[in-house]
Amino acid sequence: MPVTAVRTLYELTDVMDRADANRLIIVDFYAVWCGPCRHISPIFEQMSAEFGNATFLKVDVDQSRDISSRYGITAMPTFLFFKNKALVDTVRGANEHAIRSTIQKHYSTTPANPNSASDDEKRFLEQFVRHTGRRNYYTDEVFKALARSVMPEEELLLKSKNEKGEVDEMELLRNLMDWFKNDFFTWFDSPTCEKCTLKASGGLAGTPTKNEQEDGASRVEIFICNGCNSEMRFPRYNNPAKLLQTRTGRCGEWANCFALMLSAIGLESRYIFDTTDHVWNEVFINSENRWIHVDPCENILDRPLLYTKGWSKQLSYCIAYGNDHVSDVTWRYVYDAKLTAQRRYEVRPAVFENFLAKLNARQMEGCSDERKKTLAVRRAVDLIEMAVANEKYQKIGWEKLGDDLGGRTTGGCF
Ligand SMILES: [Zn+2]
Repeated sequence: MPVTAVRTLYELTDVMDRADANRLIIVDFYAVWCGPCRHISPIFEQMSAEFGNATFLKVDVDQSRDISSRYGITAMPTFLFFKNKALVDTVRGANEHAIRSTIQKHYSTTPANPNSASDDEKRFLEQFVRHTGRRNYYTDEVFKALARSVMPEEELLLKSKNEKGEVDEMELLRNLMDWFKNDFFTWFDSPTCEKCTLKASGGLAGTPTKNEQEDGASRVEIFICNGCNSEMRFPRYNNPAKLLQTRTGRCGEWANCFALMLSAIGLESRYIFDTTDHVWNEVFINSENRWIHVDPCENILDRPLLYTKGWSKQLSYCIAYGNDHVSDVTWRYVYDAKLTAQRRYEVRPAVFENFLAKLNARQMEGCSDERKKTLAVRRAVDLIEMAVANEKYQKIGWEKLGDDLGGRTTGGCF
């Protein structure tokens, strides 16, 4: 790890708060005009590569008066050693030997909590945190009202009634998806030029404008018309309310906008993020007491093996984001759990479980006890379903699965 510059007391406290209790943090207080500081700087940098389980920071005393006065730094360079948020040692002067032996005195190669993530694992895990804010879109009453205003709500509800006159959730889901796929949303590959009616090519990465960013676009694709060279933009909007207007996109936009539609019509859903870059949804159907796979781009319901068997995708992590929980549902979408587990090498399994449990606890904050109980029961049912399905796939044998792309494998309801 390279040496990281720290500018404020707030930044320094943040690093200490996030560090494992066993992690040594060494701070080099230096000044740009100081000769000995310049001499020791590359040596300090080199040490940071040697001691991977320590954090190396540097503070420019002239730029960061608040940190240097907090620790009473009077001579440069000064090295402070912290562990578990406490100052454990100090070395004054550019003394390589003293710095090295002090590191060795306090250094531990293993974290206090064996299930806490390493720096590499942390970087990998960040992608799973990104989707936790999505629920704000799907629980927004204004967004839901906007979604209802563009869908034929009455007609969909009427069409989905059973003989008793009650709305059948499964029928409602099917009808909503049919309408969404056939009458509402379109697939976007590349734009057609309005002047030349020619397809544009490109899809180069551009910078989103302020307006595009306000609608949640962190990326924009730029296309050039093959006829007149005019430029066309395709902002990748993240705000599903904006997608109610644009009504186009790829799987990300489809699953995002459809999640809002589901929530607007009163079906409970989850957004499924798959690290191999596809996304889809799941809907909880009460009469079936289970989460059902839904792929709005494909207009496909309850065919969880569509990706691994149908598309030969090598899935490794499929994570479900509900409005009040997060869940690992990878095992529903693969036929060979063992092979899949081998592909999950970026982060140790226990570390991943620990991470997801924490993320889930954070998302569940504010849930009633009753709701927590419901979620726990559903998770248990989910795990049993996945295990039973996997056993079945192993028994039948992969090649003989034929056109069976999954779906309910256990008998009645639990
Ligand atoms: Zn053109």
